[in-house]
Amino acid sequence: MFGSFDEALDFCNEQAIRMIDFKIIDLLGRWHHLSIPLGRFKPEILEYGIGFDGSNYGFAPVENSDMVFIPDLSTAVYDPFTAVPTLSMIGDIFVIAQPDNYRFDQDPRSIAVKAEEYMKSTGIADEMRIGPEFEFHVFDHVSYECSPQKSGFTIDAKQAIWNSGDNEKQNLGYKIPANGGYHVAPPQDILYDLRARMCLLMEENKIPVKYHHHEVGGPGQIEIEVEFGPLREMADRTMLAKYLIKNLAFQEGKTVTFMPKPIFAEAGNGMHVHMHLFKNGEPLFYDASGYSNLSQLALNFIGGILQHAPALLAFTNPSTNSYKRLIPGYEAPVSVCFATANRSAVIRVPAYAKSPYHKRFEFRSSDATCNPYLAYSAILMAGLDGVQKKIDPVAAGFGPYDMNLYNLSPEKQAQIKSLPRSLDEALDALEKDYEFLLPGGVFPRRLIEIWIENKRKEARKVNEIPHPMEFELYYDL
Ligand code: GLN
Ligand code: MG
Ligand code: MG
Ligand code: MG
Repeated sequence: MFGSFDEALDFCNEQAIRMIDFKIIDLLGRWHHLSIPLGRFKPEILEYGIGFDGSNYGFAPVENSDMVFIPDLSTAVYDPFTAVPTLSMIGDIFVIAQPDNYRFDQDPRSIAVKAEEYMKSTGIADEMRIGPEFEFHVFDHVSYECSPQKSGFTIDAKQAIWNSGDNEKQNLGYKIPANGGYHVAPPQDILYDLRARMCLLMEENKIPVKYHHHEVGGPGQIEIEVEFGPLREMADRTMLAKYLIKNLAFQEGKTVTFMPKPIFAEAGNGMHVHMHLFKNGEPLFYDASGYSNLSQLALNFIGGILQHAPALLAFTNPSTNSYKRLIPGYEAPVSVCFATANRSAVIRVPAYAKSPYHKRFEFRSSDATCNPYLAYSAILMAGLDGVQKKIDPVAAGFGPYDMNLYNLSPEKQAQIKSLPRSLDEALDALEKDYEFLLPGGVFPRRLIEIWIENKRKEARKVNEIPHPMEFELYYDL
């Protein structure tokens, strides 16, 4: 929001700001924060930063865990949730060293910057524009105590999982049935006002909203789509959007979850990522004579993403819960292929985006449990690899498959590669296929290693805990 320190300080004085808050991202994609009183906010901070102990952020150790955070004034926003007037900003992580501090190569934000720089250095494109779609559920704050009958508002997460269906037998009037929530209107759409307020907050914070609506899932699944922006900026906006969405709900006594599959047998939450490339302001994805009006470059970019898709999912779908969403029947992708207007393919070319400027495709696999800086950068690196290696997605057998991929004959099914079915499978793929992430030093090897280590631990934890369904299946066996 600000171009200079003085501008920021003037704003603080005008708005009676008392605290400056620094949001620092960890490896897995959570914001932490550190605050200083306004009196400590000095121009030196932009040069020397604020020191913190980087060893608690999940990154691989470097020779010195003393790090500094240097705020980026252009990201400053008035925090709408704090009682104490607070200016909040994100920024970059540096390692303290002699004679000069250096940019921490594992800092997710620096990885996004490196990915953009690498793209420019290849001469292929100078801008990647991204448009994510945010899907999430709103639940009652004290979810174990509020049933739909009592609150008439959102559903109880615990009951929904272990008692699915039974609640629907009574009091069906004005209830959204399971998977029947797409674009429902009031009075069923009881989340309209909360969602609209989320969107207004996003707009006030320079995140232009495209549209919002109730999603397919039963009561409580909603979606907000935002306008496109450049990669790193869009990763910043993704973090801020999630912060605004979660905190507004919290203030209203609700919670938001972006978990990919919070409710059994209901639609899951994806974070589809639309994308296109530009050079000198000219769109690169359009060719009137190509398949679905896509240029050869766009097709090669798609080829790269599909070629690396199994490994890519370790960054775009990095939770054990991610793979409970990627199953047939819920408009979530299951196959490594591309198509036009086909929601069961991992890459879909929207038929309605017809003009050269708007020509694009969406990657439908990703979900919001990713670290957006790493996920967007990994997608770009996979696509660039496809352009450099001229991977033709048609010759490689990735389609186009303009048919419903959930109902294929076994023979056809055997020809189409499946997406990984578990986090472990995606991690296995990343262990074998990570070279495409390395050019330009974009992803340091240590980061990939520590990512795999962390995610293996998560997968092991979930695998080792007896599951409630196992009691149903095996207890009396
Ligand atoms: N919720 C679906 C998913 O998991 C997408 C549904 C849609 O946007 N049409 O990807
Ligand atoms: Mg959408
Ligand atoms: Mg949707
Ligand atoms: Mg979509």
